[in-house]
Amino acid sequence: MSSDMHMAIDTIAVHGGIDKLQFLPAVPPIYQTSTFGFESAEHGAQLFAGRGEGYIYTRMGNPTVDAVERAIATLEGGARALACGSGMAAIHTTFGALLKAGDHIVCSEAVYGPTCTLVTKFLPTYGIEATTVDTSDLDAVRAAMRPNTKVLYVETPGNPTLVVSDLAETARIAHEAGAKLVVDNTFMSPILQQPIRHGADIVVHSLTKFLNGHADVVGGVIVVKDENDYPQFRKTLNHFGGVLPPFESFLVHRGIKTLSLRMARHCENALKIAEYLEGHDQVEWVRYPWLKSHPQYEISRKQCTGGGAVISFGLRGGVEAGRRMMNAVKLCMLAVSLGGVETLIQHPASMTHASMGAEARKKAGIDDGMVRISVGIEDADDIIADLDQALAAAAGKTAECASHVAAT
Ligand SMILES: *Cc1c(COP(=O)(O)O)cnc(C)c1O
Repeated sequence: MSSDMHMAIDTIAVHGGIDKLQFLPAVPPIYQTSTFGFESAEHGAQLFAGRGEGYIYTRMGNPTVDAVERAIATLEGGARALACGSGMAAIHTTFGALLKAGDHIVCSEAVYGPTCTLVTKFLPTYGIEATTVDTSDLDAVRAAMRPNTKVLYVETPGNPTLVVSDLAETARIAHEAGAKLVVDNTFMSPILQQPIRHGADIVVHSLTKFLNGHADVVGGVIVVKDENDYPQFRKTLNHFGGVLPPFESFLVHRGIKTLSLRMARHCENALKIAEYLEGHDQVEWVRYPWLKSHPQYEISRKQCTGGGAVISFGLRGGVEAGRRMMNAVKLCMLAVSLGGVETLIQHPASMTHASMGAEARKKAGIDDGMVRISVGIEDADDIIADLDQALAAAAGKTAECASHVAAT
């Protein structure tokens, strides 16, 4: 697909990033090489001066990595993308490119656990002040901005409370304050939400989740809206060093081809399961952006084309019931991560969000009894049947761990 053609996002997902390949292979070959030869001393010197065609060294650029970067930049509607070794590497590199000692960052309080730790524990040791706020509360966001605020960092929907922040409004607040809006779009993928089209300057993803989608890669990506911001990001990534290797880039690029099909199935399954959970007498509350009971349902409908795959809910029996339920699932896997084809279930307070500490969890609305599910693309009725028997176990209606006991 030539880059000057305007295609729908489902078409871009299949063909994006592969228009500049030599010899017309259907998929980008894996350039499994750490370095590239120069045609001459002059050619090498030219490349180091940023001119001419060619590659130098894989940390600085590689054709297989370039291909997946072009695909993701096109999907997000950004100028350029930078593939990173993990989602956290993408976030850390973004902060490295945009912040210096004396600056201030405002960050959503419900975010991926290690992001919270990076912002509130690590950045202050480098002289960067941090404030966390509920970014669904626009007055609170406005009040948190300071003259030295350089970044407004929003994760929407937020992990694991699924609180939704208004992208167009937060972009306006950031820009009025002279700051950049950085959005973690991991939970939605570019199929369901394109933050740049709502005013975001930078988008980050954990490629580990939906974009790769098959639970076999750890990776991340940064998308920059403005070509002028790109050199600073490339320089930072090159010196911080957290790049995505060629083989992982190849796998992610392959995963992206089915992204729009997978997202459609994830959303269809998740809505069905969220509705099932909402009707279950053991379940105290359910959060899913496309349930009408979600506090920001209207905003999610406005800025997204689906509710995503992640559901959080609370059980009547609290932590103890949650523990029994997680020990009773058979089809759903008890594991952290999300966005893969398989359904995963986990307990944020003791797992993904343990490092945040009890106080930050309470402020962000992550109660100890919360269970998080990443709904896969299996048959929805099979997932519901498994949850049904696990909820019965949680209520003490069947012997706990029956399957595991039988297996050992
Ligand atoms: C997983 C995740 C990250 C971190 O990504 P890694 O690839 O694990 O480093 C960041 N943000 C969100 C929302 C995530 O789910």
